[in-house]
Amino acid sequence: MRKQDMDKRVTISGLPETPREFGFWMDGGWQGARTLYERISPAHGVPVTRIPVCTVDDLNAAVAAARRAFEDRSWAGLSGADRAGVLLRAADILRQRRDEIAYWEVLENGKPIAQARGEIDHCIACFEVGAGAARMLHGDSFNSLGDGLFGMVLREPVGVVGLITPWNFPFLILCERVPFILASGCTMVVKPSEVTSATTLILGEILAEAGLPKGVYNVVTGSGRTIGQAMAEHPDVDMLSFTGSTGVGRSVVHAAADSNFKKLGLELGGKNPIVVFADADLEDAADGAAFGISFNTGQCCVSSSRLIVDRRVADEFEALVVAKMQKIVVGDPLDEATQIGAITTDAQNATILSYIEKGKAEGAKILTGGAAADLGRGSYITPTLFTGVTRDMSIARDEIFGPVLSSFRFDTTDEAIALANDTVYGLAASVWSKNIDTALTVSRRVRAGRFWVNCIMAGGPEMPLGGFKQSGWGREAGTYGVEEYTQVKSVHVEIGKRNHWIK
Ligand code: NAP
Repeated sequence: MRKQDMDKRVTISGLPETPREFGFWMDGGWQGARTLYERISPAHGVPVTRIPVCTVDDLNAAVAAARRAFEDRSWAGLSGADRAGVLLRAADILRQRRDEIAYWEVLENGKPIAQARGEIDHCIACFEVGAGAARMLHGDSFNSLGDGLFGMVLREPVGVVGLITPWNFPFLILCERVPFILASGCTMVVKPSEVTSATTLILGEILAEAGLPKGVYNVVTGSGRTIGQAMAEHPDVDMLSFTGSTGVGRSVVHAAADSNFKKLGLELGGKNPIVVFADADLEDAADGAAFGISFNTGQCCVSSSRLIVDRRVADEFEALVVAKMQKIVVGDPLDEATQIGAITTDAQNATILSYIEKGKAEGAKILTGGAAADLGRGSYITPTLFTGVTRDMSIARDEIFGPVLSSFRFDTTDEAIALANDTVYGLAASVWSKNIDTALTVSRRVRAGRFWVNCIMAGGPEMPLGGFKQSGWGREAGTYGVEEYTQVKSVHVEIGKRNHWIK
């Protein structure tokens, strides 16, 4: 039995006896690497995986493999139905390996096991929706150009796609993109975050088993500074889908402009408002607010980090949110009862704690939380609610990426909308009101790519994902997501005899 297969048999409860060692994935198989990075579980402080530190030569080889697979048409040349068949088989294998994948997500990321399993279920749905989209992908026609000319609009795959993903939802963000990239007929090279690479590598094995031709899906691991930067600059990558911070997104735009003007998809940061009106079901809204900022320890691009609440009910509402937050179970992510687990990296832990200190120093008042939780090992932060926040404070403006909610008050609908839009970001927003006029007015005037009415972080892979303003360019998932990975070609067909220019 190959070492990789033996490693698959690790127990999926408790901690691994030895860290699982990975190769990187290229041209349909595992590749060895000279240097390995050892990932320590952020919750348990023990090594859990060993991940290749790839070189730029490895990246170049992976891009060349993806180029060969694109040009030989082993994937792009298949029918949508055949591509859908591979995606559906991948969904079935994911279903069989759900617990194993969830386990590695927990160990590398620190998220609770029950949540991780739910995320894998969403990933399975992404593959199923991607399969449908592969079959339905189509262009357009113009039968309106007169009897002598017919126009067809074809959708063609862009080519070789580079995909860079962050550490907060390593597998979920991957699967909100990969099936749709594959549905389009593109080939790809993925660079996951160095700290959470395991499940992106495992997907290579799953796709191969599902029948994906070699070279279509490749994974090159290593740091963003070397591999990510080289991918953004690569002259033979036709499109780059980048999910991460707005700062690195900006550097990716420069790299694309300075190399080959590759097409870009950008999914960046957010400072997302949750607007609560006095006529809302306040119990529901409080649960939504506590969930929206605490889920995944607030390390979500769509975390609702700014509470904008009707002054008439603000004190009552903040008390309800505090009560909800104090009931959230913070604990070992391998424990089934845990609702929020460990902060994923030491750097992120330090960033969150520094924002809590800044909030206090700037004069905001903590109603609950505001401290590290001591579980003996790992870094944990209790859900935190600040009140008395003003627009100029750093906790009002910056994406903290942790369980820290800043509360503002409003008197009129216009003021609520202005507060909601007072950010450079435009990723997500929600409104809570039982008045249909209010809910629709706010959802139409707040500038955000995803909007929830009386719910939060709801939805499925049928719906497009993406941001307004500095939260990004383009859309992922659903048919919109597949179309992002295509380019449009106009084909003009003359019918009958040409009307000669030279008489
Ligand atoms: P990040 O530091 O920007 O990293 C994201 C990815 O980019 C990682 O794979 C990283 O690799 C890589 N990277 C780092 N430097 C790079 C460079 N110079 N060139 C190319 N790639 C580079 O973001 P993060 O801290 O991982 O994730 C948190 C951020 O992502 C937050 O701002 C969050 O809002 C955003 N996010 C957005 C969405 C969305 O859908 N809009 C979803 C999730 C997260 P290494 O980690 O290996 O260095």
